[in-house]
Amino acid sequence: MITIKTEEEIKTLHEGGRRLAAILNELARRAVPGVSSTELDKIGQELAEQNGDKPAFLGYRPKGVKIPYPASVCISINDEVVHGIPSDEKILQEGDVVAIDMGLIHGGLITDSAVTVVVGKGDEAAQKLIKATKGALEAGIKAIRPGGHVGDIGAAIEKYVEPYGFGQAEGLAGHGVGYKVHEDPFVPNNGKKGEGELLKPGMVIAIEPMLNEGTGKVTFDRDGYTVRTKDGKRSAHFEHTIAITKSGYLVLTR
Ligand code: MG
Ligand code: MG
Repeated sequence: MITIKTEEEIKTLHEGGRRLAAILNELARRAVPGVSSTELDKIGQELAEQNGDKPAFLGYRPKGVKIPYPASVCISINDEVVHGIPSDEKILQEGDVVAIDMGLIHGGLITDSAVTVVVGKGDEAAQKLIKATKGALEAGIKAIRPGGHVGDIGAAIEKYVEPYGFGQAEGLAGHGVGYKVHEDPFVPNNGKKGEGELLKPGMVIAIEPMLNEGTGKVTFDRDGYTVRTKDGKRSAHFEHTIAITKSGYLVLTR
């Protein structure tokens, strides 16, 4: 079911989104060689709780998965596309491509956002992958208009990505968000303009393109969460939570 948030709720989500953006900024800054993904996860949790907020993913159990998510932040390194589980054994190395994805509960409402950074300087190909993924997110956001469709977003992302030749992680997409981590509608990263659910003022959605250096084919680890590229090449992920307004849209997680 698609939910419509009140203006008051969108204000609360905007404040939560601002706080989440600050946390992600800090995590990105601290993604340096020698740091484990568990350390980053703990920093994320502490920064949320310091402000009286809660991480939204900790203990969240998506449909079809047996165990609740065991951490506050999803940290996906290199061939991990999304939902990488932090571990003491995952120590960041110079050149790693690291996607940092977090949900925050502020005032009872949830925002969801992700950034990808390269550890240290990295290579040119990594920078290009990250730049294209960020650009794909911005292209998707710019396609939003009240009275338009979720397909407009997918079509804009697909068109933006095409000249790069990067694969788009198959079967993964954006979603409604706010009262729950995952709500309707499905927000595709490809498709046709004019297709899918209508975009109405008060809807709050997460747009999240995931680009792979190679094929879009992915596999799931036995942990039920970690999604990897099938060919072992690297992947990047960017995400914002956005409210549809009467006149356009408002990015809540900048
Ligand atoms: Mg996310
Ligand atoms: Mg999301």
